[in-house]
Amino acid sequence: MDAAFCTAWLEEAAGAVAEGRERLTALDSAIGDGDHGANLDRGFSEVRQALAAGGAGQPLTVAGVTLIRKVGGASGPLYGSALRAMGKALAEEFTVADFAAAFQAGVDEVARLGKAEEGDKTMLDALGPAARALALAVGEGAGAREAFERAARAAREGAAATVPMVARKGRASYLGERSAGHEDPGAASSAMILDALAAVGA
Ligand code: ADP
Ligand code: MG
Ligand code: MG
Repeated sequence: MDAAFCTAWLEEAAGAVAEGRERLTALDSAIGDGDHGANLDRGFSEVRQALAAGGAGQPLTVAGVTLIRKVGGASGPLYGSALRAMGKALAEEFTVADFAAAFQAGVDEVARLGKAEEGDKTMLDALGPAARALALAVGEGAGAREAFERAARAAREGAAATVPMVARKGRASYLGERSAGHEDPGAASSAMILDALAAVGA
């Protein structure tokens, strides 16, 4: 795989976020400030433009820097730093095993920056299981397509598992116990972005 694969994933993710925008808005209206759909849709539109401009650099790094610069909410710096870390971890050509390791580096960056862990009802509850599923699939010798499908399934399950959780990080944590009963918007968008990875395949 190479940079073209990363660009294809980012394009697919931009489409998925645009399509899921209303759902993300509804989820963030329930336990946050209602801007997650708009934040990510605008951010990924900027990513599309940055990629179309054809500048130098690994597409994931370009996307990461763009999200950090253009998205005001918590999710911009978190997703942006994750993608930037992934881009930096990948050589010009890479295997699915390299991709899995880079993905884990991106997830670690979210945890470090957000000072969050799994169970806090954040995007990490989808990203962490996805990283583990990806590594496991690679360890079992699965090809990229199957590995990405397994990662996407783990992300969807991880996002669904945030419903009963009480938020301990981000705006939703201000609600305390009242944050339970709703899916975390960031976990939902992470599942969309992993679905986009599975859709691109390899
Ligand atoms: P904001 O909360 O600033 O309006 P968004 O609505 O775009 O930003 O993003 C909210 C999402 O960001 C949450 O649903 C959660 O998944 C994620 N998030 C917020 N704070 C943290 C954190 N400290 N660590 C990890 N993820 C976080
Ligand atoms: Mg918000
Ligand atoms: Mg906000």
